[in-house]
Amino acid sequence: MAMHTRLKTLFLATRNGHKKREVQQILGANVLLLDETEFPQLPEIQEIGTTFEANARLKAEGISRHISTWVLADDSGLEVDALDGEPGIYSARYAGAQRSDLENTNLVLKRMENIPWIERSARFWCFLALAREGKSVAVFEGCIEGMISREIEGEGGFGYDPIFIPQGYEKTFGTLSQKTKNEISHRACALRKFALWWQQFTEESCTKES
Ligand code: IMP
Repeated sequence: MAMHTRLKTLFLATRNGHKKREVQQILGANVLLLDETEFPQLPEIQEIGTTFEANARLKAEGISRHISTWVLADDSGLEVDALDGEPGIYSARYAGAQRSDLENTNLVLKRMENIPWIERSARFWCFLALAREGKSVAVFEGCIEGMISREIEGEGGFGYDPIFIPQGYEKTFGTLSQKTKNEISHRACALRKFALWWQQFTEESCTKES
């Protein structure tokens, strides 16, 4: 079910259409979501932070210097225990600068070839930073635990979805419906916290104004 916030326009600091689609589906139709593809003149923000949170802040703050509305940035990725936390903050470019989902996924599977089922635990993280005029005002995190499958399963979703089996399920995110993913994912969890925060924030602003 979509969440309801009083927010009207929100700029999502991303060029990733999959992320934007999920954020729009989860926040619902009363949010007008803009993104970087509609503003090609925006600079590319270098993700030079050493944590998801630092990179989310960098993106949100960097873009909000050029955009006059609230900016939300999503930095997310997969952490695999048997790979000492890799791909982590390098999730998008694990197999190289070409940022190929299939190559990244195959690299994880190859590096885990000899890892038994019991040691295939992993989790997705999502950090959302909300910024305005170059300053972050809040950060929201979401996480989902799961296991890495032995092979690619399903064509749904994006990124590492075809090899991630969420806890409590027997199929990968690539096989489960988008509706199920949007109810339980790391992104859904972080967005739920954001929506609650935003509701409170707008109510407080209205009270002060009246
Ligand atoms: P970012 O754009 O630097 O945050 O990189 C995020 C990367 O993490 C994506 O390119 C995917 O490889 C991976 N990722 C993040 N969220 C998801 C998800 O929901 N499903 C699958 N892969 C994801």
